[in-house]
Amino acid sequence: MTLKTYKKLRTKSLNDHPKMLAKARNLYNEWVRLYHSNSDGYCKCVTCGKIMYYKGGDCQAGHFWHTLDFVSDNQHAQCKRCNTHLHGNLIEYAIFMIKKYGEQRVQELKLMKNLGHKYSCEELRIMCKAYRQAISKQKKKRGIT
Ligand SMILES: [Zn+2]
Repeated sequence: MTLKTYKKLRTKSLNDHPKMLAKARNLYNEWVRLYHSNSDGYCKCVTCGKIMYYKGGDCQAGHFWHTLDFVSDNQHAQCKRCNTHLHGNLIEYAIFMIKKYGEQRVQELKLMKNLGHKYSCEELRIMCKAYRQAISKQKKKRGIT
């Protein structure tokens, strides 16, 4: 590979990265909402108890620790009001997290959040493929097309 080709590929990769990260997040969020839905595709907001369909705008995949992505026990179905307008409704979210996973796991997630990780384009491509398969599996389980 020539230096010119290498630079061109590197630039393309840098330009593609934000789009790929957004794509991976969207797919992952859809999987979270589906995974936490019942056999009809309905979810319960973990912080207020509102029942909503897994897609259509009101149901979101809310983070407990905001900068920790792609960790299943850090994201759950939340209604738009709790996730967006109440900024995660974090007091209720903390009560839910400690009750469901225990204080030790919540502290572990905090450490993971602080470590951070920058995914490469190749990692994101692999993740997108895996999330598409996982979404398809969850949809099939519920008879959703
Ligand atoms: Zn809610």
